[in-house]
Amino acid sequence: MPKDIRPQPGILDIALYQGGESSIPGLREAIKLSSNENPLGPSPRAVEAFRRAGHALHRYPSSDHAALRAAIGSVHGLDPARILCGAGSDEVIAFLCQAYSGPGDEVIHTEHGFAMYRISALAAGATPVSVPERHRTVDVGAILAACTPRTRLVFIANPANPTGTMLGPTEVARLADGLPDQALLILDGAYAEYTDIDDGAVRLATERPDVIITRTFSKIHGLGGLRIGWGYGPQAVIDVLNRLRGPFNLSTAQQDAAEAAILDRAHVDRCLAENARLRDWLTANLREIGVPCDDSHANFVLARFDSATEAEACDAHLKESGLIVRRVASYGLPHCLRITVGDESACRRVAHAIAQFKGLR
Ligand SMILES: *Cc1c(COP(=O)(O)O)cnc(C)c1O
Repeated sequence: MPKDIRPQPGILDIALYQGGESSIPGLREAIKLSSNENPLGPSPRAVEAFRRAGHALHRYPSSDHAALRAAIGSVHGLDPARILCGAGSDEVIAFLCQAYSGPGDEVIHTEHGFAMYRISALAAGATPVSVPERHRTVDVGAILAACTPRTRLVFIANPANPTGTMLGPTEVARLADGLPDQALLILDGAYAEYTDIDDGAVRLATERPDVIITRTFSKIHGLGGLRIGWGYGPQAVIDVLNRLRGPFNLSTAQQDAAEAAILDRAHVDRCLAENARLRDWLTANLREIGVPCDDSHANFVLARFDSATEAEACDAHLKESGLIVRRVASYGLPHCLRITVGDESACRRVAHAIAQFKGLR
C-alpha cells in the first residue's frame, strides 16, 4: 500500500532560520558582529555557576524554575508566579503561537519584524500577516487596520530588530487599547535593557489581561549559547503556557547561570555603559562618512546604503577585512547592513573598513 506521510499544513512553508554567519572561509580570526552578542560576554559569576552545575549532571533540574523566577522577579519588581522561563525567548514565542493560534487564525508581525514570529506562527498552522512599517518603525495605525476577527496574536519587538527603532509609551498603549477582544499583544523586549525609554510594557503586562512581555538572557546577559528567556503577563496566560512547557525544558546549568547573571547588576551596568558609548560613537562615525543610520535603542546599528548592490559590495569588503556583519535582505532591508556594537577595537575596525569602502581612507 502506498504511504502518504505529510507534515501538518504550514510546516513546509517555513523557510529555515538564517543565523548570523560566524566564520569567513580561509580566515582564522574573524570578528563576528552578526548576531548581537555581548562583546563583554557573560558575568564571571554565571560562568562559575555553569561550571558548578557540571558536578550534578545525573540530577534532573528543577521543573518549576522557582529560584530563577524569584531572581527575575526581585530584579524587575515582578510577581514570580506570573513569570514563565523558556529555552530562549524563542521557546516562549513558540508556546504563545501553539497555545493561541492555529489553522484559520492570523498572527500579525511587521514588515521588518523578527523572523521567529512568522516561523512560530506557521509551525502552529496559523497564517502570518506582515504589516508595513513607516520609515523602518512599527506603525501602530497600520497594525490596527490589519486586525480582523481572526487576529489572535500581534508581535512587536520594542526596541525592534533589525532596525533598532522603538515606539514610546503612548504608541504602545494605543496599540494595546485598539486590539480586538480575541487578540493578545506580545511585546518582545529582547533589547529592552539597552534603552533609557520606558515603553510601559511591564505596566501593561501587569495590568491588562491581553499583554505579555518576553525577555532574553541572550543579549545583555551574554548567554546566547545557553538558551534562556522568559515571559511575564496575566496569570491566566502564564498558566496556559505552563501546560505546554515540558517540565524539564531548562537544564540546571541554564537555570543557575541565568540566576547568577541577572543578580550581577554591576556586570549589567558595565555592559550597558560600554554599549551606549560605542553605539553613539559608531552611529556618529558612520553618519560622518555618509552612511545614514537611525538612532538605535539596542546593541546594534542598521547602516543604510544607496542600494542593495552597494550594501552587498560593502559586505564583501568587510569580509575581506575579517569582519562579519549581518545582511538583512530577508527582513526587507536589502540596502542595509546590521552591525552589532562590538568592543572598542571592533567598532573602530568596522568604521575604518566602511570608510575605506566609501573611498574615504
Ligand atoms: C535575539 C532576539 C531574541 C532572543 O531570542 P532567544 O531565543 O532568547 O535567544 C528575541 N527577539 C528578538 C527580536 C531578538 O532579536
